[in-house]
Amino acid sequence: MYTLGIDIGSTTTKCVMLRDGAEVLAASLVEAGVGADGTAEAVESVLVQSGLNMAAVAYTVATGYGRKRWTGADGEISELSAHALGCHFLMPEARTVIDIGGQDAKVISLDDSGRMSGFVMNDKCAAGTGRFLDVMAGILKVGVDALGSMAARSESPADISSTCTVFAESEVISQLANGTPVPDVVAGICNSVAARVSALARRQGVKEAVYMSGGVAKNEGVRKALERELGVTVSTSPDAQLAGALGAALNAYRKAST
Ligand code: ADP
Repeated sequence: MYTLGIDIGSTTTKCVMLRDGAEVLAASLVEAGVGADGTAEAVESVLVQSGLNMAAVAYTVATGYGRKRWTGADGEISELSAHALGCHFLMPEARTVIDIGGQDAKVISLDDSGRMSGFVMNDKCAAGTGRFLDVMAGILKVGVDALGSMAARSESPADISSTCTVFAESEVISQLANGTPVPDVVAGICNSVAARVSALARRQGVKEAVYMSGGVAKNEGVRKALERELGVTVSTSPDAQLAGALGAALNAYRKAST
């Protein structure tokens, strides 16, 4: 049986095709979130990769910020449940999931069967989310994918103390004007996101193993800063940004099987 999961996020749309609730057949990521429609492109891509058409798909589940605006799905699931399911599949031993996406950050506790047992979330403030990193990368005129390797070159991370994105932006500009090396500024930016998310994680309680999902999991500077802040290993995998779409496809399999 083929099931499809789609995660319509604030910045990217992700899609996963699953066979028999166990094997990932195809996955896609389109750099367009809610508003700019990447849904059709993301779905088309997994259909082409897996050599299937929509008629072969037993059930489709949508998740993510934009899920209500897409009428093509048979069902929907919250982002929290989708990430819990997807991360349990990717790392069964995970008991804490740290998900940092384009506009929010979530810390989810999982029980031994992978079920969500609690969560905390920041969806009110851009600091501590991918949005903060996107804004800072814009000021530095570098790609967001370059931040991790730049932070790794830092010898003395700058202190970015403002907790508000707008004030932090001025702080970064004045650090650069004062001659602080760019890698140190970038490391300070990554540390700032990690500090915000660690505070969230401590509120929820951190139980190992810890798995990081969402697009910011690709940023090694933030992941390593989280490890330092929390004093635990924070694991991730190349498909961590697909966790929500994968969870939606797993949920679709469950729904189609009952
Ligand atoms: P959403 O589901 O809200 O669209 P994602 O989980 O896809 O969010 O994460 C998007 C965020 O991930 C972006 O704001 C960006 O900061 C970060 N990101 C995306 N791709 C990369 C990359 N290659 N390297 C580092 N960070 C990335």
